[in-house]
Amino acid sequence: MSSIMHEKIEAIYRQIVNRNPGEVEFHQAVKEVLDTLGVVLIKHPEYLDQKLIERICEPERQIIFRVPWVDDKGEIHINRGFRVQFSSVMGPYKGGLRFHPSVYLGIIKFLGFEQIFKNALTGMPIGGAKGGSDFDPKGKSDAEIMRFCQSFMIELHHYIGEHTDVPAGDIGVGGREIGYLFGQYKRLTNKFEPGVITGKGMAYGGSLVRKEATGYGLVYFTDMMLKMKGESFEGKTVLVSGSGNVAIYAMEKVAQLGGKVVACSDSDGVIYDADGINLDTIKLIKEQQHKRIKEYASYHPKAMYKEKGVIWDIPCDVALPCATQNELNTKHAETLIKNGCICVTEGANMPTTPDAISVLQSNGVLYAPGKATNAGGVATSALEMQQNACRDTWTFDYTDARLQTIMRGIHQTCYETAEEYSVPGNYLIGANIAGFCRVANAMIPLGLI
Ligand code: NDP
Repeated sequence: MSSIMHEKIEAIYRQIVNRNPGEVEFHQAVKEVLDTLGVVLIKHPEYLDQKLIERICEPERQIIFRVPWVDDKGEIHINRGFRVQFSSVMGPYKGGLRFHPSVYLGIIKFLGFEQIFKNALTGMPIGGAKGGSDFDPKGKSDAEIMRFCQSFMIELHHYIGEHTDVPAGDIGVGGREIGYLFGQYKRLTNKFEPGVITGKGMAYGGSLVRKEATGYGLVYFTDMMLKMKGESFEGKTVLVSGSGNVAIYAMEKVAQLGGKVVACSDSDGVIYDADGINLDTIKLIKEQQHKRIKEYASYHPKAMYKEKGVIWDIPCDVALPCATQNELNTKHAETLIKNGCICVTEGANMPTTPDAISVLQSNGVLYAPGKATNAGGVATSALEMQQNACRDTWTFDYTDARLQTIMRGIHQTCYETAEEYSVPGNYLIGANIAGFCRVANAMIPLGLI
């Protein structure tokens, strides 16, 4: 990249940092994309003239609201709700809701920004958004979760709709929360409008495969990367961080493809089982009992639980970070390389720090970013919207086949774009450039929006 182009991009980035003070995760996500766009801007100077980067980095709309609720003891609590509607250039806003105490505007904006390009990569007609709250669901009763979701939706319902904005789940928002949110939306609007939210239960308009989609999609994509190198999951030792929705179904698909997952985690610690993690036990503990991962050791006495352990210290062939942002740093990357890891692909959003990505790439480790590899979740949400729109329900096998086709398309797009820009095998650059160009090319014909 020429030094003039470098300076231009740096100036845009500084302006974005100054306009969004303190939002460090948002700055990180923007920088990761901008750092790869120089070559595109040289080829397409109209993107600079049209101020496309500045426009894309400014959300179309940001909504912040009060969420008051009452706990089981009658005490009142006040949380903060967010919905950042980033881009509707390719379709209605689409992106999940995160309930976690760490949530603030900077987290929601980083997730919403990533979502724009991820959704564009799927090739489906969906724009980008994200939302959530600093509410902590951990340790709350079902009734408390329901009251919180109902209060959250009382405000959110003004801004969403089948053709406007379609939320879904993310950290802390699974099937139970989606049910309460949809139920309240239905009461408030007096409409059975299933297309307003995705990740619904099968009893009221959900889609088969949606629950599995992000984890399965991640593993399909990783399998394609391995195959390009003459490798496969067969006989590989795999680490999967987290033990939530994405992690569970990534583990399931790895096992189906012949790999062995030996460890997973939660924010308290790591469980290691040399025989391979027993998924029925994980599903029981996490999906049914909503308990901590350490319970696993009481079912499998040979397994080891390490409080505050680091999962990346365990030797593996493939590492799949599926918990949260910045969970895999330079030190972890170096340990993985030392232990012979050949591939890191992201189930979570932005789980690998920028320096760690450089370390992985410069040591020849296959790496692909979440905006490509975890796009199977939102893609299957778009398939759920299609089924809702035509009041239909597809079979598991048909929906899974559509998911596989979409993941194959995303893989091919990233791979070919990397080749086109003379960085073969660099999925990060391939994903960023392909996603950005699709959004840019949709924006220009619509005039100054
Ligand atoms: P869940 O809430 O189902 O699970 C999250 C898991 O990650 C839990 O095991 C949780 O442990 C762990 N975790 C969360 N925060 C931390 C932390 N700070 N340190 C260590 N562990 C942590 O969420 P999902 O599985 O849905 O989401 C996981 C990731 O995947 C997120 O980055 C999300 O944005 C991304 N993603 C999710 C999609 C989906 O369809 N659900 C789609 C695309 C991306 P604990 O219980 O202790 O908090």
